[in-house]
Amino acid sequence: MKEGFVYLVGAGPGRADLITVRGAEILKGADCVLCDKLANSALLRFARKDTELLHVPKRTAKGGSSQDEINRLIVEKALEGKTVVRLKGGDPCIFGRASDELAVLNEAGIDFEIVPGVTAGVGMAAYAGIMLTDKEYSSQVMFVTGHEATGRQGTAIDWDVLGKFHGTIVFYMGVGNIDSIAQRLIENGMPEDTPAALVANATFPTQRVVKASLGTIKQECERQKVEPPALVVIGAVADSDDQINWYMRKTLFGRNIVVTRDAAGNADFAGKIINRGGNPVEFAAIRIESRTDSNEFLQTLAKFGEYEWVIFTSGNGVATFFDALDGMGKDARAFGSARVAAIGSKTAEKLAEFGIKADFVPDVFTGRELGRQLLGFANLHDKKVVLLRSAIASNELVEVLTEGGAQVDNVAIYTAEEVESDTSSLIESLGEGAIDWVTFASPSSVDGFFGQVPVGAVNSSKAKVASIGPVTSGRLAEFGVEVDVTAAEHTIDGLLDSIEQEELHNGFS
Ligand code: SAH
Repeated sequence: MKEGFVYLVGAGPGRADLITVRGAEILKGADCVLCDKLANSALLRFARKDTELLHVPKRTAKGGSSQDEINRLIVEKALEGKTVVRLKGGDPCIFGRASDELAVLNEAGIDFEIVPGVTAGVGMAAYAGIMLTDKEYSSQVMFVTGHEATGRQGTAIDWDVLGKFHGTIVFYMGVGNIDSIAQRLIENGMPEDTPAALVANATFPTQRVVKASLGTIKQECERQKVEPPALVVIGAVADSDDQINWYMRKTLFGRNIVVTRDAAGNADFAGKIINRGGNPVEFAAIRIESRTDSNEFLQTLAKFGEYEWVIFTSGNGVATFFDALDGMGKDARAFGSARVAAIGSKTAEKLAEFGIKADFVPDVFTGRELGRQLLGFANLHDKKVVLLRSAIASNELVEVLTEGGAQVDNVAIYTAEEVESDTSSLIESLGEGAIDWVTFASPSSVDGFFGQVPVGAVNSSKAKVASIGPVTSGRLAEFGVEVDVTAAEHTIDGLLDSIEQEELHNGFS
């Protein structure tokens, strides 16, 4: 039997892609992942589909596992011969109880490796623009647990040293004890007007920063209702220049944006939203179902060599097609001498992933323009053309090409099925005014979404509606949905550009 091995992996401060390259690599090879509450569960996407995933939050009043139970589980899984990843928030060696877990591994004779992570204090500094050291203001930094601030006896913290410290102190686990922390520092000689900052949900789109003085930080946190996880920074650097808070100045920072594609499309869209500082709210409205086992498709493939042009109108179409080819032991050579057109840049990029350079991409990414411009680009009279696309795509492209004299085979290779998702929390968030945008990237998403969510829930909320293009906006209008933004460029990036522009425009008006 394979010998078990345990990796203690630092998940980084919050945002999923702040894990180290080595951490992500190791997750890919894990048989079993034991995930801490503070580790971002989006990281589990790195793991294989068959990896056993165990969420083991530390025991609190609301439940969870005790450290002993966690230790037992790690040993048990490793003794089964598994490669176990113990995924911990931040860095495993900073307030991470790593020594407990390593001691039991040693006792059981199980080998291990520690993979460092960006600790929350360091991640927070970058994402809140608070320099932990500064040539003028701070030449030393301390990381301290705020957990022990209340017990006056038996504390392992040198409050007398801290009170006189000229530098930066970062308290972990301090938000519940902020009052005691401030009091003990002041009792030990720290001036009440020393700058203090509290950073909650650091590196996430929900990040919050509260700044005050040591004397007033408690009231300020109460007033602003700050919740853990949060770090407390004390020292001159806490009074940082808001101009260097690059993250929270992003146009989409903190905006709650609902995405309504299929699960894989939503994950891709969510990543782009996070890159722009926004907070994606994933609602899978559709599921992509391949139709490549249909007779129509198989017959099309049998006579593929006859086509002058093969046309794709979505990345999904490209992925489904190559998946089917692969399943038949074929590859891109199936295109033979046919030329290939893509509706837009993203579809062309998807083709490029499979080694195909699109011969034609229109400069406006709609079916109508694809047809119109392709007719200007190539002589299609009496030429055979095949469209490989969604079963529910609009007929416009077929009509334009047929009118232009082409012999068009319109082959459905996939369809978007509506899927039921949990609507209650989304409808509640809409009602509370907690959603800023609801986005639609295809007419089928519109059907899938409004098949479950009442139109009134969106129209009567403060949420704005954004659509990827005119066809999707048209479908929204049919449902009676007020569309605020139709993307100028009909891609996911174009959709986000248009949302940003609308936000900027509103900010200045
Ligand atoms: N090993 C972790 C720390 C675990 S202690 C690390 O290296 O970061 C847990 C404390 O970390 C929380 O109480 C909070 O103070 C801090 N923390 C972790 N993630 C945080 C985040 N995203 N934002 C603010 N504080 C965070």
